[in-house]
Amino acid sequence: MAGTADIVIVGGGHGGAQAAIALRQHGFTGSILIVGREPDLPYERPPLSKGYLSGEKTFERLLLRPAAFWAERGIGLVLGRAGTHVDPAVKRLILSDGRVISYGTLIWATGGDPRRLTCDGADLAGVHAVRTRADVDRLVHELRGGARRAVIIGGGYIGLEAAAVLTKLDCSVVVLEAASRVLARVAGEVLSNFYEAEHRAHGVDLRTQASISHLFGTDGHVSGVCMEDGTVIPADLVIVGIGIEPSVAPLIAAGAEGTAHAGVRVNAQCMTSLPDIYAIGDCAAHENAFAGGEVMRLESVQNANDMAATVAQSLCGDARVYEATPWFWSNQYDLKLQTVGLSRGHDQAVLRGDPADRSFSVIYLRGGRVIAIDAVNRVKDYVQGRKLVELGAHVSPLRLTDVTAPLRDLLDDDVLVSAPPLDT
Ligand SMILES: Cc1cc2nc3c(=O)[nH]c(=O)nc-3n(C[C@H](O)[C@H](O)[C@H](O)COP(=O)(O)OP(=O)(O)OC[C@H]3O[C@@H](n4cnc5c(N)ncnc54)[C@H](O)[C@@H]3O)c2cc1C
Repeated sequence: MAGTADIVIVGGGHGGAQAAIALRQHGFTGSILIVGREPDLPYERPPLSKGYLSGEKTFERLLLRPAAFWAERGIGLVLGRAGTHVDPAVKRLILSDGRVISYGTLIWATGGDPRRLTCDGADLAGVHAVRTRADVDRLVHELRGGARRAVIIGGGYIGLEAAAVLTKLDCSVVVLEAASRVLARVAGEVLSNFYEAEHRAHGVDLRTQASISHLFGTDGHVSGVCMEDGTVIPADLVIVGIGIEPSVAPLIAAGAEGTAHAGVRVNAQCMTSLPDIYAIGDCAAHENAFAGGEVMRLESVQNANDMAATVAQSLCGDARVYEATPWFWSNQYDLKLQTVGLSRGHDQAVLRGDPADRSFSVIYLRGGRVIAIDAVNRVKDYVQGRKLVELGAHVSPLRLTDVTAPLRDLLDDDVLVSAPPLDT
């Protein structure tokens, strides 16, 4: 079987769907085909560890667009099939069912696959990832079947969000984090300490510097986790939230610059090193100005959507570079965390407000300039502080700590600098 499309998008998640939507919004009239490995129409991923897991949101509410939208816009969908091989010389994509699709332009938007444990017992039934609707449906099925003792491996955002939901669902929850604090990869110590205390206050047994030896089971189903020190933690289910590996093997095999671990390398226009092939979203390793030009992958809806918009505009004749401000959110219990900028590489973290009030911000500085803000139940700081991050404003820490002065008011002449924040 063969097919052809002017633009073929591999991956029907946030980036892939948004690329197709944006192409039509910007007037692209050629043929567009999305190839998606999951059987479902494009849907929002963040609720998987929040409202969908808790049962507050149905799957229909997760759909990025109603079912009719795609046909109305002339966007073809091949679902339940993966793109497995790319032949850039003849501009062909081969699918998992053997179908061959010729493309004019290829947009690779495949996200990533959950990193797996390598210890014994990792493949037992009852060991879950939280990446797809199917993952969460399996998890919910076990909860409905009476599973109540949950062990969550990994204290990143997804693990902690799942912990908050499962606690609400009357599960006993143990979180095992290998590092000395949760969220170590993405946030400063103040935030980590705060979230650790919150989870413990909600009854979560949260253990840091936790070294797992293996998982064990009964009749092929997980029944516990054994730690390196011999401690045994009984479990009806285990969630593994230890990050993702970008899904880029076919592109790397086709000769694209990048690695299976670091992702496919893209330039400022999100182009890979292969002709007429772009990559966007979680799988795209790009130089991010907000990280001082460091080459990185960003795992966020913002990054997927904004990269999609960049590519769509470029393909519609309005060449763009990707330079969007990073932002992210996480919901745990009644806490809404909103992040703007990237805190990595900060040399100072200023606390604004009191964590005891459950409403505060942490403002990260590098070389005296504001590079990121984590705002917990403090929408105003998030909204008003964004400009400080974008401008790389020089503000004295004393002024940042003064909660009586809105961050908006700090945008006066003496804090603004002429150079952009990211050339440091
Ligand atoms: C549980 C969870 C909670 C999250 N919460 C937040 C949040 O609160 N805020 C936030 O900003 N971000 C959050 N994220 C991250 C955010 O969802 C991702 O950054 C975003 O989905 C990335 O979009 P993407 O298009 O790159 O990848 P995805 O949305 O993952 O889409 C990739 C799609 O491509 C498919 N695919 C993979 N390989 C192939 C192939 N070879 N052929 C065809 N299809 C393929 C995948 O199956 C998937 O459907 C969360 C993620 C998860 C999993």
